[in-house]
Amino acid sequence: MSSSAENRSMESLTCPVCGAPRRDLSLTRCDSCGADLTSVKAIEDFIESLLLDARNEIRNRRYPEARTKLEVASWMDQATASIAKLIGSEILENEHRYGEALDNYEEAREKRIAADKWGINLDEKITKMKEMLEVERAAKEHFNLALHRSREGFFAEAREELYKAADLASYLPEIYLLAAKVDLSLGSENAMYDDIMRFRQLKPEDTRGEQMMKELEHRKVTSRLQTDQVFFALCFMVFAVAVIVLIALIR
Ligand SMILES: [Zn+2]
Repeated sequence: MSSSAENRSMESLTCPVCGAPRRDLSLTRCDSCGADLTSVKAIEDFIESLLLDARNEIRNRRYPEARTKLEVASWMDQATASIAKLIGSEILENEHRYGEALDNYEEAREKRIAADKWGINLDEKITKMKEMLEVERAAKEHFNLALHRSREGFFAEAREELYKAADLASYLPEIYLLAAKVDLSLGSENAMYDDIMRFRQLKPEDTRGEQMMKELEHRKVTSRLQTDQVFFALCFMVFAVAVIVLIALIR
């Protein structure tokens, strides 16, 4: 398939009446049989405008709107699907799904889709995605190290590794879940609270965030009870001493 075939819909390349290739796509009449192609052109123009709109929505960070437009364009024309997929890769990037975005960019390069037309530099994108994946891999290494350290009971070391992981890839929810556990072991309740909030923000559907919050509440209640018990014990001792002194004085 030629590169121009990927940039136009399949139907648009041939006349739907006689099947002859359309040399000039801007014409509203078939240059072979003379059939009126106005409606075909109108559909093509509509699909094109959908793709352009989607591109603009992405630039304005309106990802759900862009996604809808790309879906409609893909649905209207099979051959548009690969262009829609390419344009939609920036939505994946925004969701930190760099591996999937990289696959799409590489596929577009393989299929020779003219990405420049949509303001996408494929070589630049592929390099960038590989870099992002490399950074993510380094973050995951720090995370794994933190996991080992926390299992061995070296919580301070584990916390250090988690800071490094978060610096590299602050979007990975697992970092904050482990950090919350480590902070619990370190007795830093405020830090634990922040970790849980961040985890829930990144992965609201995950119930483990809720569980950790309950654990934190439980810990706060128990530590408050312990403080109260110590306070009462002290009061009792002071009272007992006072009684003994009083008895001694009366005698
Ligand atoms: Zn024709």
